Amino acid sequence: MSNPCALPSLALPPGRSEFLALPKLEERIRRRVGVCVHEFNLIQDGDRILVGLSGGKDSWALLDVLESLRRRAPIAFELFGVTIDPGFPRFNPDRIAEVCEAKGIPHRILPAPIDTMVRKRPEVTPCAMCSRFRRGVLYSHAKEHGYNKIALGHHLDDLIETLLLNQFFGGRLATMPIKLTSDDGGNTVIRPLGTCEEEDLRRLAWLKGYPIVPCGCPLCGASVLESRRAQVKALVAQLRETIPDLKFSMLKAMKNVKTSHLLDGRLPPIT
Ligand code: SF4
Repeated sequence: MSNPCALPSLALPPGRSEFLALPKLEERIRRRVGVCVHEFNLIQDGDRILVGLSGGKDSWALLDVLESLRRRAPIAFELFGVTIDPGFPRFNPDRIAEVCEAKGIPHRILPAPIDTMVRKRPEVTPCAMCSRFRRGVLYSHAKEHGYNKIALGHHLDDLIETLLLNQFFGGRLATMPIKLTSDDGGNTVIRPLGTCEEEDLRRLAWLKGYPIVPCGCPLCGASVLESRRAQVKALVAQLRETIPDLKFSMLKAMKNVKTSHLLDGRLPPIT
């Protein structure tokens, strides 16, 4: 899933994409996704791609862009929508199924007892457990039904925030990879929106009228992980006021790692 905790509100924060008309915004997002797909070799002829649809803005943007890419691409690949139903009483995936049907994209809802698990094991960090469980359900479904890729809607802001969260709170230098194949080679996760800014995706979902489906989790906005992420997000926004290209510089940095100038003795010195 892209972001199970997507805010239901479609209110637009101030941002560079705020006044961009839809055709220009679509062009910019498609161009960035196209470059990302090419650079990281994300999609090949014959791929059967499972698209994680939480009903949040990012997942709608992902579906929209991949569907547009599929129609224009010189190669053939298939898209299948999948939504995990975490069992929170307020979560209703019906609108997601309706949009997929209108677009002619096959869609499945997979029940996953996340609500019960979160309540039964409060000693385990619920958000970490929730995302592990969602991933597990997606991986199993992909394997069972012959989907060779799983597309998730994480974007550039997610990558940057994860990079900083890992450094500030986890003592490691790592972010979400744009392409990752599981150790047994059975699943490949792709993040085609990894070079797109969140504010662009929010505006795209809003301009195209996608219904934002609240996940219904009682912990939304209240978990430790979420408050840390909000802290890091605020820091990035504040820095960006004086460093407008901050996000793209950080993207460049993530692709330009000088291991010889870090302190991890296990790494070979690549310069
Ligand atoms: S806030 Fe709820 S839905 Fe979101 S990651 Fe945490 S447990 Fe999962």
